[in-house]
Amino acid sequence: MAAIIETRNLTHVYNQGMPDETVALEDVSVSIQPGEFVGVIGATGSGKSTLITHFNGILKPTSGQVLVDGADLWEKGQDIRAFRFKVGLVFQYPEYQLFEETIYKDIAFGPKNMGLDQEEIHRRVLKAAEFVGLDESFLQRSPFELSGGQKRRVAIAGVLAMEPKILVLDEPAAGLDPEGRETILSQIKQFHKETGTTVLLVSHSMEDIARYADKVMVMSEKKLVMFDTVERIFARSEELLRLGLSVPQVTKVFIKLRQMGLELPKDVYTVPYAVQTILKALEQKKQGQEGKLC
Ligand code: ADP
Ligand code: MG
Repeated sequence: MAAIIETRNLTHVYNQGMPDETVALEDVSVSIQPGEFVGVIGATGSGKSTLITHFNGILKPTSGQVLVDGADLWEKGQDIRAFRFKVGLVFQYPEYQLFEETIYKDIAFGPKNMGLDQEEIHRRVLKAAEFVGLDESFLQRSPFELSGGQKRRVAIAGVLAMEPKILVLDEPAAGLDPEGRETILSQIKQFHKETGTTVLLVSHSMEDIARYADKVMVMSEKKLVMFDTVERIFARSEELLRLGLSVPQVTKVFIKLRQMGLELPKDVYTVPYAVQTILKALEQKKQGQEGKLC
């Protein structure tokens, strides 16, 4: 299948030629397929935000290419604005960008910019509000009356209302309490399931990535160091730890158990799978003992 997002040897240098020149991204080549839910992890400063802000043309590569749906964003004749609508980018702490007097207007801002008619805008605002679990009764209220988590959901709804082909979210759960995190992440997952939209989710929480993503990009020191399915990434947990990344608690327990000599699989990263694995190991042990008794 043709990639929906592709980077070829993408390098980004901030403030090139200045004393504070910073190489933020080095030679990243990656190919994302339509409909994938991709988690992006890496330590602070590893280049995650720099990478994803290339996907809708907010940042221009210093060298290399970015392709969306097979089209090079920076090729002569391309309309960068079209990519802003195709790739919906939710920045970190997007609630700070709310500014309209009603929630309705805030969610409608993107679709209005796209030049859609009132009826279509209305349809999209209602649908997006529903996706993020905001009741219609909220829509005429001011966004400033809302809690932090609700404000963030309004901001995300504003991007969903543009019906992007690709949804990119930079740490959408950062700074929220566990309940708020869970609400937002499961709504994003639900949106992905229902619409089949390609989703890229930046997070520094391995637990969140393990629960929601199908594939994972691991960034380290400006480079893409791993890109694979969640199972295969977590099977390399010892390497992840060496890169200074945490791994899910349950994975740490399994690393310890393996070090103690138990024969357990390497790719355990969720609690339900851990339970299943332990039950299976116990079952095998029991059968082994019964075998010996005969
Ligand atoms: P992450 O999102 O993984 O924390 P970033 O992409 O924000 O990483 O940062 C990568 C590197 O680029 C860091 O060294 C950071 O200090 C630098 N950087 C990020 N944004 C800018 C900017 N606007 N100007 C200069 N340097 C920047
Ligand atoms: Mg960042």
